[in-house]
Amino acid sequence: MHRLYENNDISVFWDSDKCFHAKKCVTGCPEAFDITKKPWINIDNAPTAKVWQAVSNCPSGALTVTYNHDIKVSFDEQNNRSVAFDKDVQIGECDFDIMSEGWEIYHTEVDPEYSGRGIAKRLVYSVLQEAERRKLNVIPTCSYARKIVVNK
Ligand code: SF4
Repeated sequence: MHRLYENNDISVFWDSDKCFHAKKCVTGCPEAFDITKKPWINIDNAPTAKVWQAVSNCPSGALTVTYNHDIKVSFDEQNNRSVAFDKDVQIGECDFDIMSEGWEIYHTEVDPEYSGRGIAKRLVYSVLQEAERRKLNVIPTCSYARKIVVNK
């Protein structure tokens, strides 16, 4: 399962397949990581520095974090994609086709000027979590998306 938690400062990614429940996150920042709640991650409940520190201490790599750099990522259901904007300028997208077997992610692209900021990962996670919430398979034919889905 892939989940993306965002606020104005940061994006936190959680890949449940990697999590071995060491609970470092829960003990390090119980305000933001609380397994008695749904969703169990609420990054607005603690200062960014504390959330960042707890994520950094995750021993499995299940949790990762990036700054948002004022880039907004959203899921655009009508156009089968997620999309990234810097103010009103589109700077990236992740596209999928709806197939009988599931959603095929075939393209992920970010303006090279914005590379190294975790935007492609946010785009792919945005599509992955929507597919998973609908209990649909994901077929990643885009090489970047495949790396995220398959490269455990
Ligand atoms: S610290 Fe990482 S491995 Fe441990 S429970 Fe949290 S997400 Fe899972």
